[in-house]
Amino acid sequence: MEQQPMTYGTDYKPIPAISATSGQGLEILPDLYSYNVRIVNICLVGHRYADNFVLVDAGMPGSADEIIAATEERFGANSCPKAIFLTHGHFDHVGSIMELVKHWKVPVYAYPLELPFLTGKQSYPDPDPTVEGGMIAKMSSFFPNEPINLGKHVQPLPSNGTVPEMEGFCWVHTPGHTPGHVSYFRDEDGALIAGDAFVTVKQESLYAVLTQEKEISGPPRYFTPDWKSAWESVKKLEALKPSLAITGHGLPMIGEELSKNLKTLADDFGRIAVPDYGKYVGQHHKH
Ligand SMILES: [Zn+2]
Repeated sequence: MEQQPMTYGTDYKPIPAISATSGQGLEILPDLYSYNVRIVNICLVGHRYADNFVLVDAGMPGSADEIIAATEERFGANSCPKAIFLTHGHFDHVGSIMELVKHWKVPVYAYPLELPFLTGKQSYPDPDPTVEGGMIAKMSSFFPNEPINLGKHVQPLPSNGTVPEMEGFCWVHTPGHTPGHVSYFRDEDGALIAGDAFVTVKQESLYAVLTQEKEISGPPRYFTPDWKSAWESVKKLEALKPSLAITGHGLPMIGEELSKNLKTLADDFGRIAVPDYGKYVGQHHKH
């Protein structure tokens, strides 16, 4: 691929937060591997030592070497994914993408509505440090929200729902947390890579993030501007009846634990997920 200039937002910087599971990888299925980069999960899809595998999301700023090392540990020295798929473009999901694209020279895919945030055209809304939650929410004013610019390295997901190089998966548009947020779903076995459409840790709480205490949650509050769409997206994912979920934050959830919790979240999103106060919530979202 010809070299194209790429830039991070000017507000990009390392964020000093580390969870108990940072640096840990989990093989959820023989071809589904989740790896925790400080406070966010990336996912490698493909069997161990396979040639054809892909990466979903790109971790925190400054974690490219760690992601490459985790990839090589699973797929062998100098292994290289066929492509990188993004759930969305928040800094903790694209934090190391430029270095990864330069190193691997692979294409990046995202949903069309997310492209303005990945090509330097549009900033995300400011994070909301006043939102109900905890210490991470309060710290969130330091979180980068300016767009990165991947130029021609990023391209739109095919409109027919398929995911190139990630056979058996389809993308599911799950807006709310961001306009072009997608989750990836495999119908055959019900595997779901949810991104931040919902998560399994209270991401606003420093204590919960540090300990990775498992608890189904809506999308991270400080970065979610559209709660109505976020609720619809959770209902959409619940209707797929996933058998397991790897979420952007928190530990994977499987089987009955997932189905019960996701149903509760979909039914009672106003109470569980929508914060009681914050600049992106109105009272009508609670009902
Ligand atoms: Zn996010």
